[in-house]
Amino acid sequence: MEVELTKNEIIDMFHQLSKEHGLKITPQRTIIYQELLKTKYHPTADDIYKRIIKKIPNISFDTVNRTLLTFSKIGITNVVEGYGQPKRYDPDMETHHHFRCIQCNSIIDFHNKDFDNITVPEEINKQFTVINKKVVLEGLCSKCKRR
Ligand SMILES: [Zn+2]
Ligand SMILES: [Zn+2]
Repeated sequence: MEVELTKNEIIDMFHQLSKEHGLKITPQRTIIYQELLKTKYHPTADDIYKRIIKKIPNISFDTVNRTLLTFSKIGITNVVEGYGQPKRYDPDMETHHHFRCIQCNSIIDFHNKDFDNITVPEEINKQFTVINKKVVLEGLCSKCKRR
């Protein structure tokens, strides 16, 4: 996400996405989506849960987790490669790429036209159907580099 959206814009966007994907809009789902969009660096369900309980103190982790899974199942959120760790959620459905820090596991979005237009090797196209081309660069983020 490169543009900062206002709270109302996020809510409008969520309502439109829910309509398009046949998802029932509830206040809980709206708040979970809002937090997901506000949280940079591809949060886990646990990260989102910790933010949500400040707003809805009696919500269970299971509800948050199931809601995020629903978002990804109906296609309004992406699940980011997990590397054996908990699933990370990414509300940005536009083509974009990731930089992953191998030390602190931050996942940072970036955009690059050349990477968008990357050519899939012949032997991959023969065996598989590619539906998403995402480049993942790995290394040390600026915070970890300074340590
Ligand atoms: Zn780092
Ligand atoms: Zn992303």
